[in-house]
Amino acid sequence: MSAILLNHIDEVKSDIKQWKNDNLKIGLVPTMGALHSGHASLIKKAKSMCDRVVVSVFVNPVQFGPNEDYDKYPRTIEKDKHLCDELGADIVFAPSAKEMYGENVKLSNTDLTFVCPPYNYIDCMCGKSRPGHFDGVATVVTKLFNIVQPDFAFFGQKDAQQLFIIKKMVKDLNMNLEIIPCPIVRETDGLALSSRNSYLSLDERKSALSISKALFEIEKLYKNGVTDTSILFDSAIAHLDKKIELEYLEFRNFDTFQKVDEISKNTLTAIAVKIGKTRLIDNIILR
Ligand code: AMP
Repeated sequence: MSAILLNHIDEVKSDIKQWKNDNLKIGLVPTMGALHSGHASLIKKAKSMCDRVVVSVFVNPVQFGPNEDYDKYPRTIEKDKHLCDELGADIVFAPSAKEMYGENVKLSNTDLTFVCPPYNYIDCMCGKSRPGHFDGVATVVTKLFNIVQPDFAFFGQKDAQQLFIIKKMVKDLNMNLEIIPCPIVRETDGLALSSRNSYLSLDERKSALSISKALFEIEKLYKNGVTDTSILFDSAIAHLDKKIELEYLEFRNFDTFQKVDEISKNTLTAIAVKIGKTRLIDNIILR
């Protein structure tokens, strides 16, 4: 059966109301579209746990900075809908920015109620180079939760900081759902799937491969007993292609989000880089 494509909040709410009346378990997979196998893995997981699955496809203007790629972000709704059909999603919710934020709103926190994650969670990693990004993410995710009222929402570990922030928000604000983290899906050569990979030229794609290579090198050294993060940092950097500009490579406790100097079990090793104009992130969890 094919999914229904809905563009309006009221239409979604009315289906959700019916599903709630029928006591069905609802799963939400929030995305920005240009769906790939990483997104597909989230939808499959949602299908395995829920009676009904909503996939949202929304390039959220509020989470992009003024010099970022909001305008050029790939928009492939027909293909996305097709994949959602194949995977058995029930609703593809693809609202316009106007539907989500209204006509006259200037999309700043002088006009709009924002959900602001705690400073300690945003003043680091991606939050440092993308001021306001996680306020935008937390705000749109809260809106989606309010519209869809899911029992479960599915997020990829690929966006590790986002996952931390959403889990924290759900806990701190007593939101009535469970967040289900899903592992990173990679190309066969190791590159983490990302909608932004489509920006890469062939040459840049080759350079990008060194991101996962650097992370796998850290994993190998860790398995051989190296736990000092400064040694791991240096060896990873040596594996990065010369054309890559490093934004950060950080080691954090995967449960507390605290920075660590020595790896213990469950350490998130996260990297962000720029290749030409394209910004990419990746991570591994050392267990
Ligand atoms: P995006 O469309 O990039 O906002 O991503 C939507 C969701 O898909 C987020 O929860 C991401 O973490 C997740 N996601 C993106 N890429 C991957 C991947 N390669 N593997 C698993 N999940 C992913």
